[in-house]
Amino acid sequence: MADKLFEYAPAPESRDIARLRPSYQIFVNGGFRDGSGEAIKTINPADEEPLAEVAEAGPSDVDDAVTAARGAFRPWSALPGRERGKYLFRIARAIQERGRELAVLESLDNGKPIREARDVDIPLAAAHFFYYAGWADKLGYAGFGPSPRPIGVAGQIIPWNFPLLMAAWKIAPALACGNTVVLKPAETTPLTALVLAEIIAEAGLPPGVVNILAGGPAIGQAIVEHGDIDKIAFTGSTEVGKIIRRTLAGTSTRLSLELGGKAANIVFDDAPLDQAVEGIVNGIFFNQGQVCCAGSRLLVQESVADELVAALQRRLATLRVGDPLDKNTDVGAINSAAQLARIRELTEAGVQEGATRWSPPCELPERGYWFVPTVFTGVSQAHRIAREEIFGPVLSVLTFRTPDEAVEKANNTPYGLSAGIWTDKGSRILSMASRLRAGVVWANTFNRFDPASPFGGFKESGFGREGGRHGLEAYLDA
Ligand code: NAD
Repeated sequence: MADKLFEYAPAPESRDIARLRPSYQIFVNGGFRDGSGEAIKTINPADEEPLAEVAEAGPSDVDDAVTAARGAFRPWSALPGRERGKYLFRIARAIQERGRELAVLESLDNGKPIREARDVDIPLAAAHFFYYAGWADKLGYAGFGPSPRPIGVAGQIIPWNFPLLMAAWKIAPALACGNTVVLKPAETTPLTALVLAEIIAEAGLPPGVVNILAGGPAIGQAIVEHGDIDKIAFTGSTEVGKIIRRTLAGTSTRLSLELGGKAANIVFDDAPLDQAVEGIVNGIFFNQGQVCCAGSRLLVQESVADELVAALQRRLATLRVGDPLDKNTDVGAINSAAQLARIRELTEAGVQEGATRWSPPCELPERGYWFVPTVFTGVSQAHRIAREEIFGPVLSVLTFRTPDEAVEKANNTPYGLSAGIWTDKGSRILSMASRLRAGVVWANTFNRFDPASPFGGFKESGFGREGGRHGLEAYLDA
């Protein structure tokens, strides 16, 4: 490619580091066992080869896990907070110690570049456990009264895009507050959650405090419909979030939902454009765009639109797409055939509806689920690619003239998870942030996460917050 200054030599991370086993079991009441469902094969999306066989839970395993969590609740919640904190600190340290193994395993099971699993997913998962370990003995000072009580047994259902990190987001605050949990990872990415179960067992956590059940939607549904769960925490699609909300309507089960998004990343004409380009790339191509808060709609001020799009195209020509285990890879594989089909369907709709499609020249591996980074220009608000969550490496570019028009367009979506603002003016950042209906607003950066910072949505992006002091509220009877 003309813009490439030099080629990179292959720098593959060794897959042996993952210590992949032929089979994995579910974790119930402190022990590993085969589930009563049929075993499933989890595959590597980068080459479609099976990685391992995973025992799948059946409805009787859900019953057993809930009974174990119920039995463990009283003694666990009666422990002094500092004792619960000790277990969380242990888990956090063990995640750090096994960080390389977890990063390679995550990259194999999910398809994400090792650079991201190693530098983002795993360190942030450990950071969440460290952060909530610190809260465990300070709950009386968190602003929820002098002795806030836990809720009870939490059923937690998570998606495949950040498998270990989502497990940490769910388990750490729940345990810190004195709850016990039954967690279900997504069917395509169960491996790191099951290794986390090993870490939890080795940390000496009392049996039943954490139970981890591999399985598909039916097991998720069995958890939601189980009568003896006090709280459901769900991260996933808006569609399933709506089903869960309907199922729980009229019951006393608490609910928090972290759902989809269609974030606007807004670039004003006074923004440092080179930095904005990096933020746009990180906003939509990080994790192949399979990020609920991805900056999938670029709103650029009309006067700099041509210049910005040209700079973006030059930058995209340097992205390296391919082997997720190569340390130089920027964009890895799409997680599943189903997700790839959805990305294809929506991008084809973009072309049919009249938007202009552009991708850098790029060779994709022959096997596996791959999608080349894609930019659509000439997008209008009515296009499906501007309205629907694609959950892939696809950016829709729209333009605006005034800040009012930017706010109008950014908020013109059923979602409200995140947004980005790029400008030189602090006053404009503040005024825009206060008018954007989004749970997280980044200024002159994008996709930055910190356990101390709350995360969650408006409108169809869900309700409840995870992270920070706010994240405690979802697990306290406050
Ligand atoms: P999904 O909703 O299909 O699945 C999520 C989880 O729910 C999986 O574990 C799945 O097995 C389970 N599930 C499916 N049907 C169920 C049912 N009827 N009852 C109970 N559980 C059920 O979503 P996905 O395709 O795995 O993930 C992609 C979606 O997740 C995207 O829309 C994305 O925006 C969203 N997401 C949101 C956040 C957030 O924090 N807001 C984070 C990551 C992903």
